[in-house]
Amino acid sequence: MSFWDRIKPTTRPVSATEAALSPDGTRLDLTWEDGVKTSASAQLLRQQCPCAGCVDEWTNKRTLDPARVPADLRITQVQPVGNYALSFVFSDGHGTGIYPWKLLRDLTPAQG
Ligand SMILES: [Zn+2]
Repeated sequence: MSFWDRIKPTTRPVSATEAALSPDGTRLDLTWEDGVKTSASAQLLRQQCPCAGCVDEWTNKRTLDPARVPADLRITQVQPVGNYALSFVFSDGHGTGIYPWKLLRDLTPAQG
C-alpha cells in the first residue's frame, strides 16, 4: 500500500473488464473499467498469493518464500470470483488464492 492509497478517499475499487493470459501463460493482462491496462507475471501473482496457505492469517506475515517461486511459472486457469475478484490456478498446482480487484490493481503496474 502506497502513501497515495492511504490519503485517497475510499471509493469502490475499479474492476477489470477483461483478463487475458499470454499464450504461454506466464503473464496476465488486465483491462480495467477506467481504461487502464496493466499486466503482471504469473510468478509475481503467485508470490503475492493472499491465501491462508501463503500468508499467516493472524500475523499477516507471508509464509511463502518468494525465492521458491520459479520465473517460468504459468497460470493455467483464470476464474472470476463473484464480481469482486479473480482466482488463478498456477502450474505448480496452487489455486486457493483469491485476488480482489484492489489487490490486482496494486500488484500490476500500468503499461506505458
Ligand atoms: Zn496461496
